[in-house]
Amino acid sequence: MTTMPPLHQSYAAAVPELSAPWRAEAMPRPRLLLLHEELAAELGLDAALLRSSEGIRLLTGASDLPTTAQAYGGHQFGAPNPQLGDGRALLLGDLVDVAGRRRDLHLKGSGRTPFSRAGDGRAPLGPMLRELVIGEALHANGVPSTRALAVLVTGERIRRQAAEPEQGAILVRVAASHLRVGTVQHAAWTQEPEVLAALVRYAIGRHHPSAAEAPVPALGLLEAVMTAQAELVARWMLLGFVHGVMNTDNMTLSGESIDFGPCAFLDAHDPGAVFSSIDRGGRYAYRNQPGIALWNLGRFAEALLPLIDERPDAAVDAATEVLERFEGEYRRAWASGMRAKLGIPEGAGADAEVIDLGADLLDLLAAERVDHTGFFRALAEGRAAAMLDRPAPVDVAAGLGLRAAEDPEADPPAGSRPGAACAGRLASWERRRRALAGVPATPGRSDAERASLALMARTNPVYIPRNHALDAALQAAEDGDLGPVRRLLDAVRSPAARRPGLEDLELPAPDASPFITFCG
Ligand code: AMP
Ligand code: MG
Ligand code: MG
Repeated sequence: MTTMPPLHQSYAAAVPELSAPWRAEAMPRPRLLLLHEELAAELGLDAALLRSSEGIRLLTGASDLPTTAQAYGGHQFGAPNPQLGDGRALLLGDLVDVAGRRRDLHLKGSGRTPFSRAGDGRAPLGPMLRELVIGEALHANGVPSTRALAVLVTGERIRRQAAEPEQGAILVRVAASHLRVGTVQHAAWTQEPEVLAALVRYAIGRHHPSAAEAPVPALGLLEAVMTAQAELVARWMLLGFVHGVMNTDNMTLSGESIDFGPCAFLDAHDPGAVFSSIDRGGRYAYRNQPGIALWNLGRFAEALLPLIDERPDAAVDAATEVLERFEGEYRRAWASGMRAKLGIPEGAGADAEVIDLGADLLDLLAAERVDHTGFFRALAEGRAAAMLDRPAPVDVAAGLGLRAAEDPEADPPAGSRPGAACAGRLASWERRRRALAGVPATPGRSDAERASLALMARTNPVYIPRNHALDAALQAAEDGDLGPVRRLLDAVRSPAARRPGLEDLELPAPDASPFITFCG
């Protein structure tokens, strides 16, 4: 291919009131750092062309294609703000990928826009690389996510929390769309009813076409978004992912993960885990994510009420009925994912039993501060007991079962061995799991056991972007060495296949201190 594919502004054409035609700021010395060639191919984009000077112009918004900044509002930490919008981002346009899906190409860090408020319109390199790595990790684990096609440095230095100015960067983001709950709120709060109606028609057509056939399409959209977000958050929870800023403007109508700035994966399982320095009240803690998703859907429903029924009470009743199904959808999705994590085939046991079994395990992991990812992987490899025997905060390698497996005689440090009560709880939990999975009570070579272990080994990642490893990789990138970021990307893109030479990427942080990340 020698020409750029056609990019459309289908959103601005459908609802012109909700975006502003806008140009990227010129950046002094743009340079492509990372290009996702596989994703480029999915989009039907020629990687060599993207690397050319014409490609760099496209990827920095400097080509003469029309670009737009999207308006949105939202509830930020619970407080409504009708006027947010892309303050440092631009929509390059949408295209139909090789699989026939319409996808957005979007720039983050491309300069100020009419929605910048006090912001500088810039993005530092570290948070853009963080978004790239996390998006790949989520995607590789089957979690719907926006992804990065490319990261460029701009040649500018910008000042954030760090003492030293950091490199400015642009993330080129690919998304099913950039329609957010906050987009619909903005339309409901600030626009004529026809604009809200046009937005809803566009959202239905693009993401949830079956809602158009529902007796009340807006209610069909609410139902579809509710289901998509219940599934999304269930998958985050299973993987131990904390998004960090679940404001309504960071929740997509497509059900993809987006805008996970101050996010992280759990090391030790901790229901109260918070990684964002700005989330002082713990609103977006790990355990709160499903409840917050439902709260956000309540705000979405409020924005849709005028399209649901002209009688306000009837509209509220109809929307409430839909939202009351969230819990059931969430439990169904969580049970389905937990089955796979625990090696329990579909159809074996009831969902309620799987949920009880999974919840009891997570209680045990929390009580003993056991590494979330490491435990599930250990279970898949038949060495879970060794992990509980030597919990991660005391001795990392032994805690993960690595040293214990190599050297069964090694003594744990004094005082580190949890009580027999814990081992007993795990043993009885494991008997319940084996019974539910339909495998013999004692490990052996049955076909059922082999299938169960294979299911767990496919499902439970060896590699996630561990906080400390990701942070070290981002620092190296800031200092000019992309090697560690590339290595981490390589690991998390094939998360369930252990490879030699990546042992350090399996380990949780060597200290047990709480880990805090900052917004970009
Ligand atoms: P976020 O926390 O990244 O989801 O952003 C919340 C809002 O602040 C969005 O409207 C962003 O576009 C805007 N924003 C964040 N950082 C900047 C910045 N440096 N300059 C302008 N707007 C920003
Ligand atoms: Mg955002
Ligand atoms: Mg952001």
